[in-house]
Amino acid sequence: MEHNSPAKDTPQLDDRLPRPCPVCRAFPDKPEIFLEERLDASRLNAYSFASRKTPEYLCHQMLRCPECDVVYVDRPPSQGALAEAYHAADYDSTEEANDAAKSYISAFTSVLNRLEKGDALEIGTGTGIFLEELAGIGFQRVAGIEPSTAAIAAAPANRKPWIREGIFVEQDYQPESFDLVCCFMTMEHVREPREIAESVLRLLKPGGAFLTVTHDYRSPVNRLLGRRSPIVDIEHMQLFSQPSIKALFERSGFVDVQARPFANRYSVRYWSRLMPLPAAIKTPVQSTLSALGLGKLKVSINVGNTAAVGFKPITR
Ligand SMILES: [Zn+2]
Repeated sequence: MEHNSPAKDTPQLDDRLPRPCPVCRAFPDKPEIFLEERLDASRLNAYSFASRKTPEYLCHQMLRCPECDVVYVDRPPSQGALAEAYHAADYDSTEEANDAAKSYISAFTSVLNRLEKGDALEIGTGTGIFLEELAGIGFQRVAGIEPSTAAIAAAPANRKPWIREGIFVEQDYQPESFDLVCCFMTMEHVREPREIAESVLRLLKPGGAFLTVTHDYRSPVNRLLGRRSPIVDIEHMQLFSQPSIKALFERSGFVDVQARPFANRYSVRYWSRLMPLPAAIKTPVQSTLSALGLGKLKVSINVGNTAAVGFKPITR
């Protein structure tokens, strides 16, 4: 699938200043280069910043912090440039979002069962499908924040009142007001994941939980694919492993932190879109799957994602 856009839609990614490790906030003495920069402005378009799009294999230079194992862009675009890119990003993945929401509910069932079902917040809520799942299991009040206008426009009418358009700002919410805060496939995209985790801690009630799903760059599938992995992408400001997402939670003050691999359930058609193959092969494979009626079949695959949870301490 090709999405060609005129040059005016190309995100502006200038204005890049060096930043420290986004988890431990140090400038490593001997950082390891994890990925060489690979930018090609002619291939950047409005879809480059949409979620679950066809991979493009473009990336900024990424370093690995030897202290906390996170891989990160050391000269990222400014917060403002990123917010603008996501705001303008197109959105075309409602079915995959629905499948993902169901995968997340099953991955976190045991945590969700032990929480008070009062207030829940989702950062990067997309069309709000996960909020609907949370309301379905008994949460009394659900709220989401989403920067993409197109994603919100794709939300059904019943979910629109739950969703605020913009980027997450702690001051928009009351301290200690949430039982649950979720952030799925978003911690890679933000400029300051540590600030977000610390904000979430302040917004949670004591005993409340923060749930994330992140890519695992150390998972076998991502190591196998290397540069052809869908995680190698211009939109990722950092990539986590199980130890580094755990480090992010613990350094931000969360307790009882756990991080483990989990499987996503998606259609065969969507999995085939992620395959690291040239379009000349991918397109006929997809047509064949479609012709056989297999495209809509749902399959669970561990594609190298991590489900992590941490709790706000009850006594401080
Ligand atoms: Zn670090």
